[in-house]
Amino acid sequence: MAELPEPVQNLVNAFARLPGIGPKTASRLTFYLLRASEDVSRQLADALVILKNGTSLCKVCFNITLANQEQCEICANPRRDESLLCVVEEPLDVLALERTGVFEGRYAVLHGVMSPIEGIGPDDLKIRPLLERVRSGSVREVILATNPSMEGDATALYLRQQILPMGVKVTRLARGLPVGGDLEYADQNTLMRALSGRQDMG
Ligand SMILES: [Zn+2]
Repeated sequence: MAELPEPVQNLVNAFARLPGIGPKTASRLTFYLLRASEDVSRQLADALVILKNGTSLCKVCFNITLANQEQCEICANPRRDESLLCVVEEPLDVLALERTGVFEGRYAVLHGVMSPIEGIGPDDLKIRPLLERVRSGSVREVILATNPSMEGDATALYLRQQILPMGVKVTRLARGLPVGGDLEYADQNTLMRALSGRQDMG
């Protein structure tokens, strides 16, 4: 098979590194962009640059926020209940829970889960700042909303162990979320039920 010209192969490789995109889809996207008007690639290229330059992590909860903002909108909102802290894996989980419109507390985003197989421990996640936050005193209940996967459960158990001795209530989202499924893909009703039926881990 003849080799692709380098600029083409470069983009195929870049796409293929993304989650959920195999070599076939990577080629299809690349050849689509080759054919499409320059506008399409220009818009994509600009959006990619702005994505990194225009965003940062909230200093409090580590949710995604605009680059010039110290805190995300949720942390900066004085009406949000700071005694209720919901711990999630990814910023997309915050979005999913916010869509339910029923949660009035605040969040802590871990940016992943503990996974001994992949060598990911507590220090590779935003766990230390979370524990500091709980220790600082204003939190009354921590809701562990990591995904119902093996890693998500293990991370929740680890956090429970760390937080219970601080005298803070620890709860876990109710079952009913598909096992191994992602919070971000759960529908609003399922999430609302999981939230209201959360179980005490104490
Ligand atoms: Zn925040």
